[in-house]
Amino acid sequence: MANKAQTHYEAIVIGAGVGGIYQIKRLADLGVDATVLDAAPDLGGTWYWNRYPGARFDSESYTYGYSFSKELLEEWHWKERFSGQPENLRYLNYVADKFGLRRYMQFDCRVEAAHFDEARNLWQLRVSDGRTLTCRFVMMALGLLSTPTYPRLSGMEKFKGPSFHTFHWPHEPVDLTGKRVAVIGTGATAIQVIAEIADKVGSLTVFQRRPNWSVPLNNGPISKEEMADIRSRYDEIFAACARTPGGFEHEPDRRGFYEVSREEREALWNRLYKEPGFGIWLANFREIFMDEAANAEFSAWVADRIRERVKDPKVAEKLIPRDHGFGVQRVPLESGYFEAYNRDNVELVDISETPLREVTETGLRTSDREFAFDIIVYATGFDAITGAFDHIDIRGTGGQSLREKWADGPSTFLGLMIHGFPNLLMAGGPQSGSASTNYPRGIETAVDWCTGLFQYMRARGYVRADATAEAEHRWTEHVKRMYQMVLMRKAKSWFTGYNSNVPGHEEGSIRYFVYNGGAPKYVTRINEVAAMDYAGIAFTPEAPPSSQAAE
Ligand code: NAP
Repeated sequence: MANKAQTHYEAIVIGAGVGGIYQIKRLADLGVDATVLDAAPDLGGTWYWNRYPGARFDSESYTYGYSFSKELLEEWHWKERFSGQPENLRYLNYVADKFGLRRYMQFDCRVEAAHFDEARNLWQLRVSDGRTLTCRFVMMALGLLSTPTYPRLSGMEKFKGPSFHTFHWPHEPVDLTGKRVAVIGTGATAIQVIAEIADKVGSLTVFQRRPNWSVPLNNGPISKEEMADIRSRYDEIFAACARTPGGFEHEPDRRGFYEVSREEREALWNRLYKEPGFGIWLANFREIFMDEAANAEFSAWVADRIRERVKDPKVAEKLIPRDHGFGVQRVPLESGYFEAYNRDNVELVDISETPLREVTETGLRTSDREFAFDIIVYATGFDAITGAFDHIDIRGTGGQSLREKWADGPSTFLGLMIHGFPNLLMAGGPQSGSASTNYPRGIETAVDWCTGLFQYMRARGYVRADATAEAEHRWTEHVKRMYQMVLMRKAKSWFTGYNSNVPGHEEGSIRYFVYNGGAPKYVTRINEVAAMDYAGIAFTPEAPPSSQAAE
């Protein structure tokens, strides 16, 4: 158990999820006096909170697990190709217990403020339990999607039955039998929930504002024999992940979209549609991401798959996105999602035609109908990436507020540091490689980089590291330029900082949240910076004792 009476640490990690767990492992191995603070009652981050039915990876499980320990890789048996939330949380607990990491962790402590003390080169953290802690380094492991957002609907407090965001799905089992359930939203989360509960509820009403392109996950069990084979290939698997833009095993098809015939393109798509995981997105032709015509052709092909699977043609048409092409938003993978709409107890309500007006005591009211429900589920997404930062009053040099600095969108150095916020490191920050890749692959790289910087400073007696304004400007401009190359820049999704429920994040203002250059380029760049004595970072040595005495 962490000692709650201790008030100063060399490093404090905020967040005990996938990133925080690995960060504390690296610090603990170096003997750094460090602790982890998390607002939750226990570790796990995303996998602690998201307990909704159907929550699971859409990264192949064995590419999502940590790669840092051969022993761990040998011991853990992933039971499914795309493992579910309970197993994922067990895994993270297993890792924490195996490496004795729990003793560094403190729960139920939300960091409310982090202020940089320029005179002492220390961060001062105000914690929700009333304590003030200081540390030289603060490592932000806040998660990309850890600030859930609700619609701004009137009457939400009036509803008499249970209602919750999927992120806050209750820990105790929710009895859905015979219940009239509403799901608001049709993003990746809703698509998992809807498919999973359609046959367990009395009735299910889905309120859809915009459909999402979605394709089969093609999940399945991993037998002992297959797991043994995976174990024997781990080096190869992680090497493949490191080679690909998305950090997955799926490599883009190197043939030009227009170099092959329509028949050959369809042969690829037919194969990928039946294969597990993101292959259909990431092992597709690269033009899908950049060329409107190529994207439109493929989108039309996927639309036909939806038409084949949904019996009612009117419903099928409603489930086909019109405002964006395939893959320009984060693609949700599904298991029986479209077939759910073939059930008599499932209804799709198009709230782009008949908008939601209010929540009532007994249900929901749209512009033309009143609905009665027993349970309302808000699958309405997150104030992505910067939302978790915005909820902490972070102040750097000169008392400058990070929330204000990022009001129109983030600017960072490599997605890892922020000018004017010395000694604050982000393994999963905006504009980092972690934000746009198979998360743990990106996280391991970023945590290793942050740890490397920490060691570099320790070895030289540096007490302060601040990214220069120029380095930050160059990186942010580079990130912006990358957006110009991809169709994703046009999408209304968390990749562009869109969230209709967060003031200022509504449609129309793009935020440069992710690095679109791909994992290999990103890793090369951050390693180059490290090799060049962290060019772009200004270091301050510890003041000699005489000058300290003179202060
Ligand atoms: P999301 O993709 O942002 O989807 C939110 C949904 O709620 C959208 O359909 C949105 O409609 C709707 N919505 C939001 N506010 C609304 C309002 N006021 N009225 C009506 N509808 C509203 O959020 P998410 O589904 O939670 O997914 C977020 C991300 O989490 C994913 O992109 C993915 O990265 C991650 N995720 C991963 C997994 C996995 O690994 N398997 C699973 C789930 C989620 P509009 O589109 O019209 O705004």
